[in-house]
Amino acid sequence: MKNIQIAMDGPSGAGKSTIAKRAARSLGILYLDTGAMYRAVALKGIRCGIDLCDEKSVGGMMAETVIDVVYREGNQRVLLDGEDITDAIRTNEVSMGASRVSAHPAVRERMVATQQGIARRNSVIMDGRDIGTKVLPDADLKIFLTATAEDRAMRRYLELQEKGMADKSYEALLDEIRERDRNDSSRTHSPLVRAEDAILLDTTGFSLEQAMDAVMKIIKNARMD
Ligand code: C5P
Repeated sequence: MKNIQIAMDGPSGAGKSTIAKRAARSLGILYLDTGAMYRAVALKGIRCGIDLCDEKSVGGMMAETVIDVVYREGNQRVLLDGEDITDAIRTNEVSMGASRVSAHPAVRERMVATQQGIARRNSVIMDGRDIGTKVLPDADLKIFLTATAEDRAMRRYLELQEKGMADKSYEALLDEIRERDRNDSSRTHSPLVRAEDAILLDTTGFSLEQAMDAVMKIIKNARMD
């Protein structure tokens, strides 16, 4: 049987990773969180104290960096130069850093090659910003998941409050979401755009369950043969 490829793109905080992870589990295929790979690059840059906006410094660092993706008990782990940094990359500083390093072609080329290698060997649902346009242009199904910046910031705010980690106001989170949107959409290389053949799903006002149901309906209706 041929491998299935599902591409899920969209802006930060649209719920892509939660939904794609659950969809992968229900379909019995691999989930690849490509953002985690850009986050790993940002973490290394932060640790090395380099200017993440400087293409030359980041390019030089990439030449000495190995990023691997492995699966343990079905869960994706990201290795940076052999170290498992899966949990360390979930900070705000790393989120902002990833949106900076991901603008550099030297970073993108390496990440895309690794991602395409994983898709050649496995049936996969991948989420990111350039999956439908660049990584898997011939994917069996492409979904572009979005919501207004206000809605995404509010979801993040409520999520942090629930975890007892709300150290930021809603307005501060909205500013960050807008900055990441700006960085992702305005970069020259592989900016965040909807692939022409991607199905647009705007989840503004949806609960997570409603968004999940809508995605599963799209997947069930798609022809993947
Ligand atoms: O998806 P996540 O928020 O973890 O991604 C972190 C950052 O990595 C994004 O803000 C984006 O700049 C970058 N990214 C990307 N291309 C991808 C996935 C993520 O440029 N395919």
